[in-house]
Amino acid sequence: MTTPIIVGNWKMNGLSADSADRVKALLAGLASQRATGTEVVICPPFTQLALLAPQLKGSPVALGAQNCHMDEKGAHTGDIAPGMLTDLGVTHVILGHSERRRDHGEVDETVREKAVSAAKAGLTPVVCIGETEDQRQSGEAQDAIGWQIKGSLPDGFAGVVAYEPIWAIGTGLAATPDDIRTTVAFIRAELVRQFGESGKTLRILYGGSVDAGNAASILAIPDVAGALVGGASLKPDVFLSIVHAVP
Ligand code: PEP
Repeated sequence: MTTPIIVGNWKMNGLSADSADRVKALLAGLASQRATGTEVVICPPFTQLALLAPQLKGSPVALGAQNCHMDEKGAHTGDIAPGMLTDLGVTHVILGHSERRRDHGEVDETVREKAVSAAKAGLTPVVCIGETEDQRQSGEAQDAIGWQIKGSLPDGFAGVVAYEPIWAIGTGLAATPDDIRTTVAFIRAELVRQFGESGKTLRILYGGSVDAGNAASILAIPDVAGALVGGASLKPDVFLSIVHAVP
């Protein structure tokens, strides 16, 4: 039985006061609504992790980070090692988000090395893959995704795969349920080809403009184990409605 997972990516948003308030509202909402069997993870910026960890301790919400370095320590000014995250109580880490690939030149190999180190430190990597608008228009979406799977996921990968079409991120234009169904089936086939038996059970999320209005239809798609939610995760009421849209 697959445990659904909803991951909130706060991106570069959140100062101390509003982050604590957002978490307070989220925890209150979860407490007052029916218990869900869904794993809920929020990924605030690095600067908020130490502040929010005590607030989340013992709660139904896990703490994630948005990136980590592949080395355990050393001369990497401005970077954060996986062990520094677990030291704070962080359990998940988003890797290879398209904004990091775009803004920081991360390539599949970087993502793969990070996924190895994150897992070694005890973190669950949430590895993002997805095609650009150009790849979609030119019919190369599946090729691009196939290469990302081969390049970004290390041997023995036991994390979560997030399918995030880049053109759908932050645009308000989510992929259609039909397109998600087709692409998720392709990703599943590639995972099984690459990993054999274990590829059958890796969780696949959809991300890209998930909101209160489309969450139920996206989360009902067979083999979609949850969602990676960006903008909508900043609004506790909307994020809660997405969590509760899990069938
Ligand atoms: C994301 O940042 O991973 C994301 C899916 O963003 P949004 O939900 O805002 O499209």
